[in-house]
Amino acid sequence: MTLSAPELSRYHRHIALPELGRTGQERLKGARVVVIGAGGLGSPAALYLAAAGVGTIGLVDCDRVEISNLQRQVLFDSASVGRLKTEAARERLLALNPEITVIAHTLTLRADNVLDVLRDYDLVLDGTDRLTTRYVVNDACVLLGKPLVSAAIHRFEGHAMTYLPGRGPCYRCLFPEAEEGVVASCAEAGVLGVLPGVLGSIQATEAVKILTGIGEPIVGRLVTYDALELRFVELPVTRRPDCAVCGEHPTITAPRDAGELCDPAAASRVRRLTAAALHELLAAQRTRAVFDLIDVREPREFGAGHLQGARNVPLGDLERRFGELVPGSTPLFVCRSGRRSLMACTLALRAGIEAPAHLEGGLLAWAAEVDPSLDVAAG
Ligand SMILES: [Zn+2]
Repeated sequence: MTLSAPELSRYHRHIALPELGRTGQERLKGARVVVIGAGGLGSPAALYLAAAGVGTIGLVDCDRVEISNLQRQVLFDSASVGRLKTEAARERLLALNPEITVIAHTLTLRADNVLDVLRDYDLVLDGTDRLTTRYVVNDACVLLGKPLVSAAIHRFEGHAMTYLPGRGPCYRCLFPEAEEGVVASCAEAGVLGVLPGVLGSIQATEAVKILTGIGEPIVGRLVTYDALELRFVELPVTRRPDCAVCGEHPTITAPRDAGELCDPAAASRVRRLTAAALHELLAAQRTRAVFDLIDVREPREFGAGHLQGARNVPLGDLERRFGELVPGSTPLFVCRSGRRSLMACTLALRAGIEAPAHLEGGLLAWAAEVDPSLDVAAG
């Protein structure tokens, strides 16, 4: 990969670094990096990778830009609201650097597509807020032998770690089991807007170092960042010989949708209701209590507006409050988008509750199809 005259000018400050130099810049030009999640972490990461001249950047996201994203997702501006994140981001990155190629993958990574998407890239940068996706991506990187730079944020704190094939632990070594109910997403918990700026920049730093072969990546070291105390703390992480995917006797030899309803038998035990169907059911329920309507959003969201007859049990509290379910009734979970309610169904199944139900598309679908006056608090 040779550099053109405009590229030599554009990347002059890189080339001026003896450690990186022209060779390093040529490596960046030849590199292919995929960014999972064009959100808080993916925004700064993708911007810096584009500016740095990473030749091909893939973006994986299936969401559209919401106004509440703009507090931290610096890839987008007010005019992007309503657009697909992948498309708006692609435009922004090409405006920043027309020398590169940006590939939009408008989809959710799952066991059945993750290998195909990641296979063509040299390095994976994971900034997803979905824990289930995090495991799918980790497992795929181990199976494909791809470097993976992970980061996650929560309220005022974040952490980052890099996995290099054959060198050090993977994400599953660090967190062996998915605990869906425990990890709150940004929508539920809130997040300091500038926080992902720090962690996403760390991810871009790692990517540039690995691709150019300079410095020491955070392999086997979990770097944690506390914005309130403005403190970085490093925790050593060792590879687990019994890790299910990178261990000596791996039990995961192909991607699987861990923690999600990958098991068709389990999936068939969840009742998925459309907004219209729920509307009819609720009308019929005035005479007989069949469903126990549980809103698994945070109290703040519940307070802004909820379905009549619903009670509030936030997802994070659900497991220890299953005892409060109305005996003999079917729990019917609702949330804003249908994501948390599906998690609630998974937890209910694990707790031995038969045939839980949830509102597909969440209260957003309800507001669109049944009652536009419902205030669905922004995430
Ligand atoms: Zn592992």
